[in-house]
Amino acid sequence: MIIVLKPEATGAQIQSIKAQMTGRGLVVQEIKGENTYMLGLAGDTSMLTEGDIIRNEFVERVMKVSEPYKLAGRRFHPQDSVYDIAGRKIGGGAFTVMAGPCSVESEEQVLSIARDVKRSGAGFLRGGAFKPRSSPYSFQGLGLSGLELLKIAREKTGLPIVTEIMSQEYCDVFGREVDVIQVGARNMQNFPLLREVGKLGRPVLLKRGPSCTIDEMLMAADYILVEGKSPVILCERGIRTFETATRNTLDLSAVPVLKKRSHLPVVVDPSHGTGYWHLVYPMALAAVAAGADGLMIEVHNQPERALCDGQQSITPYLFDKLMRKVEKLREAVREDEE
Ligand code: PEP
Ligand code: MN
Repeated sequence: MIIVLKPEATGAQIQSIKAQMTGRGLVVQEIKGENTYMLGLAGDTSMLTEGDIIRNEFVERVMKVSEPYKLAGRRFHPQDSVYDIAGRKIGGGAFTVMAGPCSVESEEQVLSIARDVKRSGAGFLRGGAFKPRSSPYSFQGLGLSGLELLKIAREKTGLPIVTEIMSQEYCDVFGREVDVIQVGARNMQNFPLLREVGKLGRPVLLKRGPSCTIDEMLMAADYILVEGKSPVILCERGIRTFETATRNTLDLSAVPVLKKRSHLPVVVDPSHGTGYWHLVYPMALAAVAAGADGLMIEVHNQPERALCDGQQSITPYLFDKLMRKVEKLREAVREDEE
């Protein structure tokens, strides 16, 4: 729900309506235009009638927001959100690439890949310490010692780190140590986890659930945003369809749809989105052309020996080639937009 205030509304009147709304347990967000002043209400507004609000003589009108998400939506926040994370900008035309191995395997492995992807222009090092594997018999990640190796790589290369949290139990340590906290596809609707990471005040990379709609993803983002502390980056990483030629079906139409519905930056992961290394290059370019704000790419120095997702990991050599091409393509897309 959005409350449009009359231009002559006084500061005291604005405070009084805000207090009324927060008193009802709603989150109130101010939206200031040149000649307009609005209040966006997030939370359960079902008990609120338009009549209750319009009774205040300084209210011009009340608009029902039909979308089930609010804080992630453009209606409340018309401008693109742009974040500065460890000196790297993302969103609103600023582009960034997160690259690294699916899972952290050893100091030597993660350092070598981190150095390579940095040289090619990656802005972030990605790497899983806690791995959500389909089989309990597969490599589950190095856990906290993997996080220590990521920290070493960060110290030696200066690249901020992106890594997945799987359980609330690690919120404290992730809140202290991790630059971008990844919530993986399987946990996109783990609502208690979303609420807890929303309290950490760290950027969250929220990956789309394999069977989740775009609206469900935006509602999941609201679970994080409603805590008022952690900014959210959305990540399209493919969805489950009847198609078996690829691991997932990378839904690139989600990029312009998300950009229209939401102000949050949108990153595309063509590695999980396709499942095959030779599809990563073309689909990464397609994602750039579709308007993505960034890419997440799995890179491994020895993909055939990788403990996880080797078949979809590209080599540092191919990553470098891809980065050169992305640069060119971004120039072309930018020229087209001007
Ligand atoms: C990953 O990024 O390594 C990962 C497990 O991704 P997803 O949650 O998208 O499957
Ligand atoms: Mn992976």
